[in-house]
Amino acid sequence: MTTARWVYAFEQGNGRDKMLLGGKGANLCEMTQIGIKVPPGFVVTTEACLAFLGDPERRLPEGLMDEVRRQMAALEKRTGKRFGGTEDPLLVSVRSGSAMSMPGMMDTILNLGLNADTLAGLIRHTGNARFGYDAYRRFIQLFGKVALGVPDALFDEEFESVKARVGARVDVALEADSLAQISERFLEVVARQTGRSFPADPYEQLEIAIQAVFNSWMGRRAIDYRREFGITPAMANGTAVNVCTMVFGNMGSDSATGVGFTRNPGTGENLMYGEYLVNAQGEDVVAGIRTPKPIAELEQEMPEMHAQLLELRERLEGHYHEVQDFEFTIERGTLYCLQTRNGKMNAAAMVRTSVEMHEEGLISRNHALARINPAQLEQMLFPRLDPAHQAQPLATGLPASPGAASGQVVFDADRAEELGRQGVQVLLLREETKPEDIHGFFAARGILTSRGGKTSHAAVVARGMGKPCVAGAEGIHVDTARRVAFVGTQVIKEGDTLTIDGSSGNVYRGVVPTVEPEFTDSLRTLLAWADDCARLKVRANADTPDDAERALRYGATGIGLCRTERMFNAPDRLPIVVDMIVAETPEDRAAALDRLLPIQRADFAGLFRTMAPRPVTIRLLDPPIHEFLPAERQLEDEIARLQDLRGAVRGLEVLADAARTEPDPRLPSTLRDMGDTRRLDAIIARKELVLAKARALREVNPMLGHRGVRLGITYPEIYRMQIRAVLEAVVECLREGLEIDPEIMVPQVCTVQELKLVHAQLEEVRREVEAEHGIAVPCRFGSMVEVVRACLRAESMAKVAEFFSFGTNDLTQAVFSFSREDAENKFLPMYNERGILQDNPFEVLDIKGAGRLMALAVGWGRSARPDLHVGICGEHGGHPASISFCHEIGLDYVSCSAPRVPIARLAAAQAALGDSGN
Ligand code: PEP
Ligand code: MG
Repeated sequence: MTTARWVYAFEQGNGRDKMLLGGKGANLCEMTQIGIKVPPGFVVTTEACLAFLGDPERRLPEGLMDEVRRQMAALEKRTGKRFGGTEDPLLVSVRSGSAMSMPGMMDTILNLGLNADTLAGLIRHTGNARFGYDAYRRFIQLFGKVALGVPDALFDEEFESVKARVGARVDVALEADSLAQISERFLEVVARQTGRSFPADPYEQLEIAIQAVFNSWMGRRAIDYRREFGITPAMANGTAVNVCTMVFGNMGSDSATGVGFTRNPGTGENLMYGEYLVNAQGEDVVAGIRTPKPIAELEQEMPEMHAQLLELRERLEGHYHEVQDFEFTIERGTLYCLQTRNGKMNAAAMVRTSVEMHEEGLISRNHALARINPAQLEQMLFPRLDPAHQAQPLATGLPASPGAASGQVVFDADRAEELGRQGVQVLLLREETKPEDIHGFFAARGILTSRGGKTSHAAVVARGMGKPCVAGAEGIHVDTARRVAFVGTQVIKEGDTLTIDGSSGNVYRGVVPTVEPEFTDSLRTLLAWADDCARLKVRANADTPDDAERALRYGATGIGLCRTERMFNAPDRLPIVVDMIVAETPEDRAAALDRLLPIQRADFAGLFRTMAPRPVTIRLLDPPIHEFLPAERQLEDEIARLQDLRGAVRGLEVLADAARTEPDPRLPSTLRDMGDTRRLDAIIARKELVLAKARALREVNPMLGHRGVRLGITYPEIYRMQIRAVLEAVVECLREGLEIDPEIMVPQVCTVQELKLVHAQLEEVRREVEAEHGIAVPCRFGSMVEVVRACLRAESMAKVAEFFSFGTNDLTQAVFSFSREDAENKFLPMYNERGILQDNPFEVLDIKGAGRLMALAVGWGRSARPDLHVGICGEHGGHPASISFCHEIGLDYVSCSAPRVPIARLAAAQAALGDSGN
């Protein structure tokens, strides 16, 4: 009978099996097996974690501890130390690690194996009592907190009280006897809190620690993190436990510990980047307790170690073909690599490293494209501080995560979350952050800390989230309890507004203006590669020549949707549009439309010129026309007030009459004019007319009412004007010698008859315009597909339409019968939270429902017209996973808002790469 295997030594584990061994464990195995110096150890699998969590009594699976004991025996043999031994005791670290990197989300215990006896042995062996007690107090605190649930603050209180008593300003100034005293106090804290003494048996410690790490997978921090980053069980299921021989960076001045990136994670520059501390343990660097030194300084301080680090960097990148984020410890002149993982970088760094690593021959072009999450590019569209600003910084820290943000200061994560929910823009200001602050990160626009380095928790997490962060602004003194901070004599209170610049490290009072970011050369290069590789074209939704200009800068290959109604809303047009709506006769309506025609013609010509020779798809008027009128309530209010005014004016008239019969020099001679109500009467009459029209047009369900093509058929003169404006603009541009590619599409179509009617109208106007100008006027004709029936009738529709454009905003509404106006604010968040729906379908295309219909419609449409051109112009056109689906079902293009165009270009390339099996 074969039994499940729960444990693998670093020499045995399969470095590719991250699901089983977790990312950290798999990499430790891999590094060991390629000859990188890793302290010996073993991995307890994620399967063991799942078995443990699945047991109602949360017992470790049978046989697991036997395997652990066998592995410990092997470690004892390799290191010549004994676990629980009193000579040179073997100590281990116990760390979590799941298939997806979740920095700081779960728990780690160091120096496990210490008790009074082994401590004595450690001190004897190292001849360093200070070191021994330091290791001991750290272990008691970590084990107490992580494995026994003792609040951290209780340890901190004791620590600070001893520190204050002996007058030590920094931790390193504490002598051995103070640390011994701290250890004693810590043991008492544990006994008081748990009602039993601290476990002394190393195997008992190990068993409890493994259970604690497993349990941390279901801790709040880890659950929140998985939800926020969409980590599903298919991506990471359970955590592994890495048990690793301790090596010490705090054994004196020939020891150190640090973290490194093989390239700069903030800029992508090809230079080793990182920080270290001499005579310290790893957690000191990560927690930001002491401010570490830049890694370049190691070259002077320990040249041989620096050279070895550079070699390690080469080996890691050479092996993983990816930027690595690694931890190292130097123990008495020996360099160990404690872990490595793919570096989390901001978008600018991802793009630059992609381009440079390809140019260095380290990765293929396809790999360069595939390694970047398209959504991350959004960061490169983040605002920067306006370079012309004159603001003087209030304080300066380290530029820990780029981008600029303003917000109201809050001093803790809960408050950040609370205010963030109310829509307040907040900045989280803390002395330093810890993993339990994660919900505050999600809510905040930026993070500011007064302590810690660029690899502190705050910096790493903010960078991963693409949020600006200034870390270690030491000029700021934070008093969290009183919710204030001080910069010299200045006070920062909760609710005060600050601006942080994560690219320079500056902190400003108030709001400092920001500017749009620019494309980097690397991004341009990468996106050019993406375009070569993609099959889907990427267009933009743009309504004005300015929008179109921007879309071009982002690399759009055309305009997939011009919502003409947006042109109607400009202040110089709206009164004409209102005239058109309230017109009582076709003649009056025609007069208003005649005034709109040249305006629309100029709009369209502007778009064609900007985009020439690229396609521009113009959609005929879509929304219900009452949207162009003021709200009924507003009109009623205005009319009531105007009527009051008219009453007052009539009073003036009486006064004027009196003045005439009994002349009074104090009364102005214009009184008579002022008493004239004719102008007011006209204004009131107009408003009453508009109100009557608004009432007549009122609909219970306007989004399903008199809109789109239904409006076009009821008021054919509106579409006729728009079609004429498009065709005349085409003539204008052709006369200028421009090569243009115009398209007209019809919204909300549900029957072929509707499409035929508008098509006939187009052909009629085309004939007129061609006759008037004596040239052929090209313009393709297509249909939006955003109604369920249109999908089902796609075959017949394609006989009339030359192209389809899926309007997935309305299609989603129709498929779910969810109002797109209300669902997102009402029940959808709850649906997502409870897992009734995985995503917000207005953001992420519902592949199983709406997507299925689309696939059918594409097939049916092309059965009637094999060269039918098909695109999508709903919001989903800029969403990477939705784009991938659009590629799969054979669409020709996606169209999205201009800033999402780069994201869509990369997503389109990745979809094509997915196809070719790369
Ligand atoms: C759509 O419905 O997807 C669409 C693009 O049109 P609108 O959002 O203007 O209704
Ligand atoms: Mg629509």
